[in-house]
Amino acid sequence: MKVDTIIINIGQAATMASGGKAKIAGQMNDAGIIANAGIAIKDGRILNIGPSAEIEQKYQWDEAIDAKGRILTPGFVDSHTHPVFVHTREDEFAMRIAGKSYVEISLAGGGIRSSIQSSRDASVEELVELSLPRIQKMIALGTTTLEAKSGYGLSTQSELKQLKAIAELAKILPIDIIATFMGAHEYPIEYENDHEGYLKILIDEMIPAVKEQGIAEFCDIFTEAHVFSIEESRWVLRAAREHGLKLKMHADEIIPIGGAELAAEMGCISADHLGAASDNGIMALKAAGVIPTLLPATLFSLAAKTYARGRFMIDSGLPVAIATDYNPGSCNCDSMPLTMSLACLQMGLTPIEALSAATINAACALDRGDQVGSLEIGKLADIIIWDIPSLNFIPYHLGSSHIVKVLKRGRCIFKAQ
Ligand SMILES: [Zn+2]
Repeated sequence: MKVDTIIINIGQAATMASGGKAKIAGQMNDAGIIANAGIAIKDGRILNIGPSAEIEQKYQWDEAIDAKGRILTPGFVDSHTHPVFVHTREDEFAMRIAGKSYVEISLAGGGIRSSIQSSRDASVEELVELSLPRIQKMIALGTTTLEAKSGYGLSTQSELKQLKAIAELAKILPIDIIATFMGAHEYPIEYENDHEGYLKILIDEMIPAVKEQGIAEFCDIFTEAHVFSIEESRWVLRAAREHGLKLKMHADEIIPIGGAELAAEMGCISADHLGAASDNGIMALKAAGVIPTLLPATLFSLAAKTYARGRFMIDSGLPVAIATDYNPGSCNCDSMPLTMSLACLQMGLTPIEALSAATINAACALDRGDQVGSLEIGKLADIIIWDIPSLNFIPYHLGSSHIVKVLKRGRCIFKAQ
C-alpha cells in the first residue's frame, strides 16, 4: 500500500497511548515507548506505528523522514491560552517585583482592564496580525493543538471580534485552534456596579450570538471571589450549556469558593487553575470526570508560594492536564516544555506524568482525546522530533529548545535552523 509519508529509524517513540482516554494514576507515568519504531502516515493520520523495519517493508511512500535514532513524542496540546490581545504588560511585571499590589497596578492604568480597552479599540486585522507571531512561537516550541479564549472585549461586538480573529488565525496557521468564548472573564468597568446588567447581556445577547455564528466550541468563566460568584457562574454556564457550548471554568485559583464543586455539578470538560481547590472539590471533579487543568507557569510568574496540588490529584486518581495560560498579564509563557518543568519542580509530577498531562490528558481537556495527544493508529500525525538523550531531558532542561522538527497532520510545520 502506498502512503504519503513514513518516518523510519525512530530511536524511541513515546506514544502516550491510552486508547483515546485520559490517563490516570500509574498510566500517567507510562510513556508507551516503542523502540526502533516507524510510523506510516496517510491523509494526515497515523496509518500504522510499529517496528521501523516492518513499516518500511509493508509500505511504499512519497516521502520518507529518517529520524536518525531520535526521540519522538506527540505534539503538545496547549488547552488554556489567552493569545488575542493588543499590548504586552511587561511594566506590570516590573511593578509586581517592586512590590506594587494588584490595585495599585490597576490604578496606574494596568491590569486586565487595560487589555480590554486596547482590544476594544483594535480591528480584527490588527488582532490577527499581533497574535500571529505569538502562536508561531508556540508552534516552534511543539504546540500542534491550541485552545484560544476571547475575554478582552467584554461587549457583544468586541467579544465576537476577538472570536473572529481566532477563527482567522485558525485559517492561516497550520495547527488546530479551538475557540473558547470567555465574555465572563471580568465585569467591564461600565457594569462594575451592575452585575445583573452584564449577566443579562452575557446570557441574552452574547451566548446566543456566539452560538448563532458557530464561532466558539467552549464557554469559560472566571469564577472567583470579587469576579463571578458561584451563583452568577451557574447562570452563565447553564445558558451556555443550553446553547450547546461545552464548558470550562477558571475555578478556585486563589480562594476556595466552591468552583471545583460547580465544575463537577455543571459537567464541565475541564476545571482550570485549582490552586486553592478543596479536597471535596477535587473529589467532586474525579466523580464527575472533569479534567483538572493546572497552570504552573502562572503561579511561577506571580511568584506564588504555593501551587495547585498536582501530586495529590494524581495520587487520588485524577487525570491531570497542564497548560501554559499564555496571557498578557499574569503569565506571558508560551512554552509547554517550560510548563512541564514547572509542573515537575513545583507540583511534584514526574517527567513522564508531565508529558502525559501536556499531551493526551490535555487533548481530553479539549474533548479531543480520540483525535490528538498520542501516537496511535487513526489519530492525527501530530509529532515532535527531539534532539534529546531521554524523555526526562524535556523538563530537566530550562531555556532553549531541543526540538528538531514539528509535524502537523504529517506535514513539517517547523524545522530548527
Ligand atoms: Zn486563563
